[in-house]
Amino acid sequence: MRVVRPGGDGRGGVGESVLSRIAARVGTPVYVYDVAAIQARYRELDRALAGFPHHIHYSVKANSTLGVLATLQALGAGADIVSGGELQRVLRAGFAARDVIFSGVGKTRPEIEAALAAGVGLINLESAGELDLVAAVARDMGTAATVGIRVNPDVTADTHPYTQTGERGMKFGIPLDQVVAVASRVRAEPALTLRCVGMHIGSQIADSAPYGQGAAKLERLIEELRAAGITTLECVDVGGGLGISYAGEPAMVPEVFAGAVAPLARATGLTLLTEPGRFLVGSAGRLLTRVLYRKHTGGRDIVVVDAGMNDLLRPALYGAHHEIRVVTATPGGSEAPVDVVGPLCESGDFLGLKRVLPGAGPGALLAVEGAGAYAFSMSSHYNSRPRAAEILLDGDRFALARARETVDDLMRGETAAAAWEPA
Ligand SMILES: *Cc1c(COP(=O)(O)O)cnc(C)c1O
Repeated sequence: MRVVRPGGDGRGGVGESVLSRIAARVGTPVYVYDVAAIQARYRELDRALAGFPHHIHYSVKANSTLGVLATLQALGAGADIVSGGELQRVLRAGFAARDVIFSGVGKTRPEIEAALAAGVGLINLESAGELDLVAAVARDMGTAATVGIRVNPDVTADTHPYTQTGERGMKFGIPLDQVVAVASRVRAEPALTLRCVGMHIGSQIADSAPYGQGAAKLERLIEELRAAGITTLECVDVGGGLGISYAGEPAMVPEVFAGAVAPLARATGLTLLTEPGRFLVGSAGRLLTRVLYRKHTGGRDIVVVDAGMNDLLRPALYGAHHEIRVVTATPGGSEAPVDVVGPLCESGDFLGLKRVLPGAGPGALLAVEGAGAYAFSMSSHYNSRPRAAEILLDGDRFALARARETVDDLMRGETAAAAWEPA
C-alpha cells in the first residue's frame, strides 16, 4: 500500500484540513476509513467479552476492502464470510483459513470445494441439502470438514424488515425443532465433525433482549444435543448485528451485549463466537463528495453532488439516514433545508433529504458520515460510474487502499462485436 504523508497538522483525529487535503489529492467521491476508530471498536468489544473464552469474527461483507481486512486481522480478529470471493479476499489479507467461518444460505459446490481446500475453520450449514453436499464434497476430496449448524432461533429483532434474519419462516438457518435430527446426521457422517451451533438474528440491532432470548434457546438446544450424544461441540456462535448510531439513536453497548450472551457461554462452557460487521467499521468510515450544482425546484432546494446511489446505496435501499456535514464551505449555500442528491438518473438517488447545510455551495466538500459498513461493499457501476477510491487514514498519514476505477475497468470482459456460437 502506498503511504502518503499529507503533512500532518498535529490534530491526530479526522480534522477538516486532513479530509480536504485527501479530497484534493485523490479526488471525489472517496471513502476515508479511520484506522484508530476501527481499532478502538474492536478493543472495546473484546474487553467487554473478556470474562469468558471468545473470538470475534469480523463479518467481511460489511466492508471487504483488503486494507480494512488487514487492519482487523492485525487486531486478532477472525473472519466471517458468505462467498468464495470473500474467501479469496480474507486469505489475501492474511487471515489464517482456520480462523474463517463460512456462512450463507446458498453455498455452491465450487465454493465448498474452495473452502475445504483452504481448510476453513467452520462451514455453517443452513439446510439438510447443504449437509449432504458438504459431506459428498469432503468424501470426494478425501478430506474432513468441521461444520457448524446455523439455527433459526425464531426471535424477532426490532430492525428494518430487510435486515431481520432470525424469525421463523425466513430463508436463514435450520429451524430449532429440526436441529437435533440434522446434528445426528452430521455425527453419522465420518467426513464431518459438528463443532459449533449458532444464530445470526439480523442487523442494526440496539436492544440486547433478542440476543438474550436467542442465547437462552441455544443453551437449551445445546443441552438437548448433548443428551442426544453429540460430544464434539467446541463453540457457540451468537452472530453479529450489533447496532451503531447513525443520527444519535441508541446503539448497542458492548457490555450490555456481553451481559446478554454471558449466561450462554458460562452454562455451556463453550467458546463464544460473535460475527459483528457494522459495529466494527460502520462509524469509522465517511464518504467525501463535492457539490456540483444547486437548484431550486417545486419549493425544494437541491444540492447535486458527485457521489450517488451507486456509491452509497443505503439511503435508497433502506431509507437509511447518514449525517452529512460541510467540510469545506463555499459561497452560494443557504440556511434553508436542502436535499442532497446524486447525479444518477433515478429519483431514489439521494444521500440525504431536508438537511441544513450552510456553506454547501458549488465546489463545497461534504462528508457523509457513518459510511464504513454496507457502503463501498454495496457499491455498483450503475450509470457506468467507476467506483470510488478508498483511503485508510491513520493519525497524520493516509494510504490509498483502492485506486479509483477507470472506465476500462468497467468494460473488462465485454465485447461490442459478438462472437456468435450455435445455441
Ligand atoms: C451480515 C452478517 C453478519 C454481520 O452483520 P452486522 O449487522 O454487520 O454485524 C454476521 N453474520 C452473518 C451470518 C451475516 O450474514
